[in-house]
Amino acid sequence: MNRNVVIIGCGVAGLSAALQLARKSACTVHLVSDMMSERSQSCLAEGGINAAIGPGDSAELHCEETMKTGCGLADTEALTAMVSAAPDIIRELDEWGVPFVKRTNHSVSVRRMGGQTCARTAYTENGIGRQIMDVLIQQARKYESEGKILCYVNWTFRALAKQDGCVCGAWLEHLDTREMRFVPGQVIMACGGLNGFFGNATGSTVNTGIAAALLFADGVLFSNLEFIQFHPTTLRLKGKNLLISESARSDGGRLFVLRDGKPYYFMEEKYPELGNLMPRDVVSREEYSLIKQGFQVYLDLRGLPAKTYETTLAGIVSDCVLFAGIHPTKEPIPVEPGIHYFMGGIQVDKSHRSPVKGLYAAGECACQYHGANRLGGNSLLGAIHGGKTAAEAVLRSEFSIPNGSFEGKPPVPLRHFRMEPLQSVMRAAMGLERSKGQLENALDAVEKMSVPDEVRLFSRAILLSALNRTESRGSHFRSDYPNCDPAMRKSSVVQCCDGEIRFGWEEKS
Ligand SMILES: Cc1cc2nc3c(=O)[nH]c(=O)nc-3n(C[C@H](O)[C@H](O)[C@H](O)COP(=O)(O)OP(=O)(O)OC[C@H]3O[C@@H](n4cnc5c(N)ncnc54)[C@H](O)[C@@H]3O)c2cc1C
Repeated sequence: MNRNVVIIGCGVAGLSAALQLARKSACTVHLVSDMMSERSQSCLAEGGINAAIGPGDSAELHCEETMKTGCGLADTEALTAMVSAAPDIIRELDEWGVPFVKRTNHSVSVRRMGGQTCARTAYTENGIGRQIMDVLIQQARKYESEGKILCYVNWTFRALAKQDGCVCGAWLEHLDTREMRFVPGQVIMACGGLNGFFGNATGSTVNTGIAAALLFADGVLFSNLEFIQFHPTTLRLKGKNLLISESARSDGGRLFVLRDGKPYYFMEEKYPELGNLMPRDVVSREEYSLIKQGFQVYLDLRGLPAKTYETTLAGIVSDCVLFAGIHPTKEPIPVEPGIHYFMGGIQVDKSHRSPVKGLYAAGECACQYHGANRLGGNSLLGAIHGGKTAAEAVLRSEFSIPNGSFEGKPPVPLRHFRMEPLQSVMRAAMGLERSKGQLENALDAVEKMSVPDEVRLFSRAILLSALNRTESRGSHFRSDYPNCDPAMRKSSVVQCCDGEIRFGWEEKS
């Protein structure tokens, strides 16, 4: 029987799931997104994608370093599957035409990113995200022309449709006409991170987080929402922080502050082993403590080989000149930590199934591989592998949903509202340092805001997750609980039941 599958989001995770479904079976894939693939956040990725293919590396070491960076909160079985699949994923992308930088023997070259003791990150000369997306889009067009993938661009997710507690489709709203449409199928969420709840992130503003809020209010379980990665090298612009990729430090960039008029290379002094390439949470917190003392942190890219500016750093150099009038070859770049990645999200098992039958999630909207903090280069990998894994789980599932009408009523459209005041409250409370007082004040403030109930509930769920984690772990730092508590090596889980938020913990094996 022909299966229908609805995928919400056409970034790297959504496309990966769509391709896996389209090439493997008699499947109709409904690929939905409020913007075309070319505008998805995945296209912004700059640094690279991880796989243990370099000298001295192994899947075991990749797994160990991911787990260490994630402070013990990742799922070992799922992680082992991801790191084992990574070399094949690179091989496939290479075959499809991603122009990876190669070594003289034509094998894919890798470089070292933060938190890694080995060179493990495959890269391209110009924006890895864009290059990967180009080939995935090209592959998807082939199936689109065969009618296996149906694209719904300019449609936004509004609600799950359920029958007997199982997901049987999704309600979509057209962004221009406001038409509400039901599309049948099991549903894979691939709608990216929660940038819209915070603003000033390095990621795309298209990722409003509203889809997540709607799911949460509908009872879908979320996990580890307190873990938000701050990238240590972002350049503040109006309303957005521009990412200066970790690859800049991998290529020789150095962080410093001016102390008594002289550069003080604080990361190199304090962490001689990994220096500027310590995990992101460590670098961000070091910067934050200096910023609190009144220092301006700089990233120094001067004096690197000319070829580096023309190749791997070309995008960074042109972005700095274009958007900030800063010439990184001649002057240091003022940087600060900025919101970059959401480790938490829809809770899924190792097959990317949510506890709701017929609902799956992959990519940044899912909580899976990264625990309390993400290793640079693991996100594209997790999104591609996660998309494939979710697709495989759909194909293995016993129930399929035929074409047809659905008797349920369409959801009421969300009323128009502004995110801006909410974003300020969320940013202030969920910063690099959090405390009970700040989080409780934010919970009160959110309660009084004029936002839809779904948005209020989800904001509260994020704040409660941070309030209840009374320890510091990975990206979550509590000034009132500065130490890691081994007894809290657990994932937080949060769910909305009849308008009430229920909070709990899940033990890690
Ligand atoms: C500047 C930058 C650089 C990065 N560099 C790297 C890197 O070098 N290596 C790495 O591994 N990771 C990197 N990352 C992280 C990585 O790019 C992302 O985590 C990853 O691409 C997420 O892919 P995704 O498919 O889950 O989501 P996205 O690519 O964000 O796609 C989300 C999709 O969902 C759609 N959508 C959202 N909301 C709705 C809705 N309500 N209804 C319908 N559709 C919706 C969007 O239109 C989009 O199509 C970087 C991130 C940024 C911001």
